[in-house]
Amino acid sequence: METHAALFEQGRKRLDALRQMPPRQQESLTDRMLELGITRRDFMKWSASITALLALPLPFSSLVAEAAELADRVPLVWLHMAECTGCSESLTRADTPDLDTLIFDHISLEYHETLMAAAGWQAEENLEHAMEKYHGNYLLAVEGAVPTKNGGTFLKVGAKGKTGLEVVKEAAEGAAAIISVGTCSSFGGVQAAAPNPTGAKGVHAVIDRTVINLGGCPPSEKNIVGTLMYFVMFGRLPALDMFNRPKWAYGARVHDNCERRGHFDSGEFVEEFSDDAAKDGYCLYKVGCKGPYTYNNCPTERFNAHVSWPVLAGHGCIGCSEPNFWDDMADFEKPLGRQLLHGIDASADAVGGVILGAAAVGIAAHAVASVFANSKED
Ligand code: SF4
Ligand code: SF4
Repeated sequence: METHAALFEQGRKRLDALRQMPPRQQESLTDRMLELGITRRDFMKWSASITALLALPLPFSSLVAEAAELADRVPLVWLHMAECTGCSESLTRADTPDLDTLIFDHISLEYHETLMAAAGWQAEENLEHAMEKYHGNYLLAVEGAVPTKNGGTFLKVGAKGKTGLEVVKEAAEGAAAIISVGTCSSFGGVQAAAPNPTGAKGVHAVIDRTVINLGGCPPSEKNIVGTLMYFVMFGRLPALDMFNRPKWAYGARVHDNCERRGHFDSGEFVEEFSDDAAKDGYCLYKVGCKGPYTYNNCPTERFNAHVSWPVLAGHGCIGCSEPNFWDDMADFEKPLGRQLLHGIDASADAVGGVILGAAAVGIAAHAVASVFANSKED
């Protein structure tokens, strides 16, 4: 297994190589931070938080800071397939620009249909130019599922009328690494829900390359930026779980870090959304929370500048970062007790203080199986 010292050395060499390349942004990150009133202290705190997010020791925060400044040396091509653009919105719709959005601005975004000014023929030319000029070096991010039925004709993109399937295959061919941003591009998402009339699939299912899947509907901006930073810093993929999700983000269940977990363990459940138990912040399992089956860092990273996350706000997790969650996790406000998921579940009534032991063992067994079975180290 690789040591942290060897990984640090690899990052050092990667950043030295990036520094030799010409900057692609006219303004440095430091100047942009000054303009926006972001202090050096804020930046160092952000670097330390990204280091912790990536499960790296604190000395790596100097590499994170340097990688952020050099992020404009890494070309990024961002494609949109069948989707709602919620994943881009998750990253760009902050009411005050924070460092996550600033890094996204600073990275060399060569093509992004929502954010670029170009349209029509010019947009298509930009994409072809970027794929040719940076062949073998660009990072490819894909948002949205890829329709595959009828040769992919359910999705046509651009002035030349190419199918999304063609565009993804072409762009993947010259990419240094590929990231599926969100559950749709990772696993098909709502487009692939039964009966899946367009034959929608995740990107990994239509190309013959390893794809990093950032499940979530949408994924948190932290998981998107953390993955970009990992690639800028090391030029390679992080360690992945059995669904090709980065282990540093998807290595623990929502249930494991939930602030309501004490109530689950004590058998204290909300029975309906308006009852006193709901007001007292009890566990939401019986009103459908899928936290025990879902791998994501929402409880620790939260959303909206770390303000809150769905379970804290009062609704159960719906399992949005898992494959097939629209079908497998429904109904979203009922427990899965009436059906089996991954072969293991407990009925709603079986979960509680009296026979909690058996249920907890079952759920824990699922947890261990899901994270470590077929897990992949880069
Ligand atoms: S079942 Fe849901 S609400 Fe209850 S502890 Fe687990 S994640 Fe939290
Ligand atoms: S709490 Fe569950 S449903 Fe909500 S964002 Fe996190 S993984 Fe998705």
